[in-house]
Formats: sequence, C-alpha cells, structure tokens
Amino acid sequence: MRMKDRTAIVTGAASGIGKEIARAFAREGAKVCIADLALGAAKAAASEIERQGASAMAIAMDVTDEKQVEAGVAKVIENYGSVDVLVSNAGIQHIAPIVELSLENWRKVLAIHLDGGFLTTRACLRHMVKSGRGGTILYMGSVHSKEASPLKGPYVAAKHGLLGLCRVVAKEGAKHGVRSNLIAPGFVRTPLVEKQIPEQAKELGISEEEVIRNVMLKETVDGEFTTTADLAETAVFLASFPSNALTGQSIVVSHGWHMQ
Ligand code: NAD
Repeated sequence: MRMKDRTAIVTGAASGIGKEIARAFAREGAKVCIADLALGAAKAAASEIERQGASAMAIAMDVTDEKQVEAGVAKVIENYGSVDVLVSNAGIQHIAPIVELSLENWRKVLAIHLDGGFLTTRACLRHMVKSGRGGTILYMGSVHSKEASPLKGPYVAAKHGLLGLCRVVAKEGAKHGVRSNLIAPGFVRTPLVEKQIPEQAKELGISEEEVIRNVMLKETVDGEFTTTADLAETAVFLASFPSNALTGQSIVVSHGWHMQ
C-alpha cells in the first residue's frame, strides 16, 4: 500500500496508459479521480476500480478548457479533501509531414499536451501549496521528449515542452514539498498507437508490419513493445518516492530504444 491516504487525479485515464496507472494507484491504496473527455469510459473505469474495493470517481474534463479543469480539480478536493498526486497524461497523436500540417492540427496537439499540462498543473499546484501538504506531479512525456521522428512535428515539440514544464515545477515546487518528474515511454499498444500504425504505413508507403518492426521497435534492444503495466509500475514508484532526491527528472521506459 505505497499510496495509502493519498488522492490522485489522472487525466486521460479512461483508456490506455492512464487507465492502468489509475488502477495501480488504487491497488496501492490511493483514492483516484479519472478525468477524461470521454465521460462514459471514465465512469466505467472508475466503477471497475470500485468493484475491487477501492475508491474512485470519474470527471468529465477537457484538459484544454480552463473552466473545466478548475471545476474538476475543485470537485475532487470537495469529495476527497485533497489532491496529492497529479498525472498529466491526456494526449493525442497526429501524423503528417510539416509541409502538409495545418495550423489547426498543430495547435490541437500542442493544446492538449501543453495547455492541458499547464492548466492541470496550476490548479493542483495551487492546492498543494495552499494546503501545505505538498505533492507529486507526473507528466506523461515520451521518448519523443528526447528524440525526434518524422511525421510527428507537433507531438515531438509538445513532448519536449512538457520536459521543460516538469523542470520548472520541480524548481518552483521544492519549497512547498512538491516534486515533479516525467515518464518517457517507448511505443505501447494503446488506441493512440493502433490508430497511427495504418497512418504511418500510408505516409511512408510501407506495410503495417514494417511500421511495427522497422519504425516503432527498430531501435529497441529486444523488438518488444513497452506495456501499460511497465508504466503503471514506474508511476507508482515515482508517486511514492519519499524524498526530493528524485525531482525534475525523466525516466525513459522504452526497451532501450533511447538510452540517456
Ligand atoms: P489513449 O488514446 O489510449 O488514451 C488517451 C486518453 O486521453 C483517452 O482516454 C482520451 O479520451 C483522453 N483525452 C484526449 N484528449 C483529451 C482532452 N482534451 N482532455 C481530456 N482527456 C483527453 O492513449 P495512450 O497511449 O494511453 O496515451 C496516454 C499518454 O501517453 C499520452 O500523453 C501519450 O502521448 C503518451 N504516450 C503514449 C505512448 C504510446 O506508445 N501509446 C508512448 C509515449 C507516450
């Protein structure tokens, strides 16, 4: 029970990596809020956790909408009394070469990752400072916080940006007992990745099998996908780490794709 008596908000937790992190936090004793655009799926994920005897709630939240973020965080505090951990995880991908990328799609990707990261951080950090309880803020970065790939201009820019935000939060948060770290996964077979396999195949003129073998997993040490369980374990480790020794850091979880 590494997270007993802690309350966590995980954005984008109705699916994929965030959903697994919410489940792992609950298993470790945390009360969990699943904040997502997709309210139906968020409610289903929260009910599943509750059936296993833990406490969970679902909130409809578009992380790019200031009012929804403020109201959502306030509701969690009203229900559970505090927010001790934020995982800023909601995200999307958009596949296109820069010469064909519209300003609208550039802005959409940046808004979800960066505006979303900022707005959720600000709302939770204000509470963590004011309550005097401190806390932990985790960002779902990517190997693309450190490396570039073609066809992913806004995503790579946004994920690099999140690393900068994480480091500022580590410096500003320290005196208030707030730590901040970033998790940088390699490819994980969630809906976000399933969608881009055919899109990349089309753009690159290769088969879907080749996208998996020669694009996604080529640089790993063993040709394997990272799993949602790998990332949930990393998130629990970072969220329950007991001192400021680990803050402003990024942990790459990618089967050796990127070594830092
Ligand atoms: P996913 O598509 O399974 O889940 C993303 C969730 O975010 C969905 O539930 C979706 O409804 C939600 N979401 C999207 N826009 C939102 C918004 N504006 N407000 C609130 N919620 C919103 O994807 P995933 O693979 O689990 O991705 C989660 C995070 O992990 C993302 O930030 C992604 O960039 C990052 N990531 C994923 C991979 C991978 O290979 N899957 C690798 C590195 C990083």
